Amino acid sequence: MAVPVLRQPKLKQEKSKIVMDIPNVIITLKDKTRLVVSSDAYHGILMASNMYKCVFCRTDMDLDMVYKEQHKNTNTHKENLKNYPHIDGYDENLVRKLNKDMWYCTICQITVATSCLSRHINTSSHCEELRKAIVKATAYHKIHSTHLVEVPT
Ligand SMILES: [Zn+2]
Ligand SMILES: [Zn+2]
Repeated sequence: MAVPVLRQPKLKQEKSKIVMDIPNVIITLKDKTRLVVSSDAYHGILMASNMYKCVFCRTDMDLDMVYKEQHKNTNTHKENLKNYPHIDGYDENLVRKLNKDMWYCTICQITVATSCLSRHINTSSHCEELRKAIVKATAYHKIHSTHLVEVPT
C-alpha cells in the first residue's frame, strides 16, 4: 500500500504537526462519569478568525500557541476558571455561567446565551459532542492516557 502523502516525512510538516498536537484533558464527574475534551475547550479558549479569545479572562490573544499555553498557566486565568465552575445540576453537560446573559459550553467550546441554554443542551450537535467526549474517555484511557491531564471539574 502506498504511503499517503501526508505521512511522508518532511521537516516542515513534522514541525507543524507537533505544534498542532493539542493536548486533551480528562474530567471525572462526581458520579464517576469521565469525559475527554480538548485542553482549549476546558480552558475556554476560542479561536476567532485571527486571534484566540479567553472567555473567562475576556482576553484577546494573537494566534500564538506558546502564548496561549502560557495564558492557561497564569494565576489570573486559573483564578477566573475557579470563579466560573461547571454548574451543578447540568452535570455532564459541563456548562459554566459567565454572567447573567451568557454561558460557556465546554463540550461544544462555544458561548451560549442564557435564553438558549436549555435548548442548546438538547440540540443534536451538543448531544453528539457529549457522546464523543464520553466515548473518548473510554478509548483514550487505554491508548493515550499519557496525553491526558486530570483536571478539576
Ligand atoms: Zn484566561
Ligand atoms: Zn454544547
